[in-house]
Amino acid sequence: MSEENGEKNNCGSCASGGHPDQEALDELKDRLEVQNITCNIKHKIIVLSGKGGVGKSTVAANMAVALSLQDKRVGLMDIDIHGPSIPRMLGLEDGVPKKSPDGLVPIRYNPNLLVVSIGFLVPDRDHAVIWRAPLKHGLIRQFITEVQWGVLDYLIVDCPPGTGDEPLSVVQLLEDADGAVVVTTPQGIAVADVRRSITFCRNTNLPVLGVIENMSGFVCPNCKEHVDIFSRGGGQSMATELDVPFLGRIPIDPLMVESCDRGKPFMDTYGQSNTAKAFEPTIKTLLELRGPMHKNGGI
Ligand code: ADP
Repeated sequence: MSEENGEKNNCGSCASGGHPDQEALDELKDRLEVQNITCNIKHKIIVLSGKGGVGKSTVAANMAVALSLQDKRVGLMDIDIHGPSIPRMLGLEDGVPKKSPDGLVPIRYNPNLLVVSIGFLVPDRDHAVIWRAPLKHGLIRQFITEVQWGVLDYLIVDCPPGTGDEPLSVVQLLEDADGAVVVTTPQGIAVADVRRSITFCRNTNLPVLGVIENMSGFVCPNCKEHVDIFSRGGGQSMATELDVPFLGRIPIDPLMVESCDRGKPFMDTYGQSNTAKAFEPTIKTLLELRGPMHKNGGI
C-alpha cells in the first residue's frame, strides 16, 4: 500500500524504513546468526508445564544432571525470568558469570554441566524483574547467542509455566528443537492446564517428546502405605488421549524437597534410589534422540 493512493504506510517507523525486502533480509540475518550458534548444540529440549509448582524446574535440573553424569556435555538455560529457581536448586546462587570478549561465561555445576539463569544477573535474590515481552525475548536471544556454550550434546531449557512470551520466544529462536518434555501432576486441575501446553506444542510445531507425571503417589516411609495425595494417572490418561508418549510417574519424595533446598540435585545424591529410577524412561528417551522429530524421520 502506498501513500500516493491515500493509504498510510504502516512500516514507516520500523528499522527497514518500510522496505519489505530489507525487513525480510534483517529477519533472515537474525535467524542465520542464531543458527550459526545453535548448530553446535546437538539436541535442544524444552521443558514445559501448564502450571507452576508441579516440579518442572526440579525435573529440568535433574534431567540435566543425569545426562551430565553420563558424560554428556549439557547446558541448562533457565528462562523463568520472573521466578528463576535453577541457581538455588543447583547450589549456584553465588555464581556470577564473567564477561569475556567472546560473550558471557556460563556457571559450571560440574565439568559437563553449564548453567545460565537471570538469577545470576540480578542484584539480589529478592529482586523482581518487571519486563515486557520484547525485553524477555532479547534476554533469551542473548542467552542463546552471547553465552559461551561451546559444543553441547544437550541444551535443556527450563521455561516458566504456561504458554506465554518466554516459551514462544524460545520455540521461535530454537527452530530445530528436538521437542518438549511436559511436566504435570496427576490431579485434574493440573492436567487441564497441561493440555494447553500440548496444544501450544502443536500450534508451534514443537514435537512432544513426552509427558511426565510428577508427584504421583507417596509411600509412607514408616508404614509403607501407598497414598495418592494428588490422585493418580491423570497425566498418563491425558497422554494416551492426546496421543503423546508417556514418560512415567515420579513419586513424591521428601528427599527431593530436601535436595532442592540444599542445592544438591536429587540425581547427584540419590541416583540409585527408586525415585531416581523413575527418571530412567525420560533419560533413555533423550539419550536415544536422533534429531528433531519433525526432521529426518525423528526419534
Ligand atoms: P515448578 O518449576 O513447576 O514451579 P519446582 O520444580 O520449583 O516447580 O518444584 C516445586 C517444589 O516441589 C520444590 O520444592 C521441589 O523440591 C518440590 N518437588 C518437585 N518434585 C517433587 C517430588 N517428586 N517429590 C517431592 N517434592 C517435589
